[in-house]
Amino acid sequence: MILLGSHIPTVGGAARAIERAVAIGCTAMQIFVKNNIQWFAKPFLVEEIHAFTQHPLRKNLGSVLAHAGYLINLAAENSLNHEKSLRSLAEELLRCDQLEIPFLILHPGSHLGKGKIYGLRCIVHSLNQIHAEHPKLKVRIALETTAGQGSCLGSHFEELADILAHVDDPERLRFVLDTAHVFAGGYDLSALHGAQNVFDQFDRIIGLKKLCALHINESKAALGSRVDRHANLGDPKNGKIGLEAFRWIMQAEELALIPKILETPKGKDLAEDVAAMKLLRSFV
Ligand SMILES: [Zn+2]
Ligand SMILES: [Zn+2]
Repeated sequence: MILLGSHIPTVGGAARAIERAVAIGCTAMQIFVKNNIQWFAKPFLVEEIHAFTQHPLRKNLGSVLAHAGYLINLAAENSLNHEKSLRSLAEELLRCDQLEIPFLILHPGSHLGKGKIYGLRCIVHSLNQIHAEHPKLKVRIALETTAGQGSCLGSHFEELADILAHVDDPERLRFVLDTAHVFAGGYDLSALHGAQNVFDQFDRIIGLKKLCALHINESKAALGSRVDRHANLGDPKNGKIGLEAFRWIMQAEELALIPKILETPKGKDLAEDVAAMKLLRSFV
């Protein structure tokens, strides 16, 4: 089974996302486990947890992933929001365990002007602290490649490898590659053999065995622009990557078991997701 899906809204409760995902033919999905622009949430009710984990359609999804909220920043230890970030992240990890979601995808963080080395050390300390304080968590944090906007870290594979090399328990860490982000970060997926080259680099620097998901997004922003703007696949006016890279990704044997998640613009009926999944499946 190809694990292919999209980021699905949880309006009406997390369990509703399963129904929406299955209704449009997803075999994988990503959700937020709470409002993504708020720090904290009301704890799940037991009924909400059961509605999700025991949902009769849950087995139709070969992979369920969560994406962490956008306020969390592990890379600036002495900022007002660092303590809050740690608490918010811990809460999200607990919510993932309650919903039996194995990976929480997180942007590494922004150093806010303190420099890359400082930021990377803060991320390592923060991950070590979270891991030490919550030894029993089943969910793993998966750091995502970023476009490198502003002082965001994680646009170079070396930065992510550096974090992996320095955390106390690297087994608890995974990674997610976002095609739009790496392209904006300077990895040319649009070139001849571009996708092959980029994934070879990822494998050499981080290791494909550490990759737990792919974000399959076209980029409205140019190569190396460090701007994060997703576009729909097969949109020749806006997409700068082009379909060849996505064809390669869908056909690559080394990526066959990796869940592939769309995070591209869509309306309420998710019609754009349906069209993109149809296109991607046609490549296999
Ligand atoms: Zn993300
Ligand atoms: Zn993005």
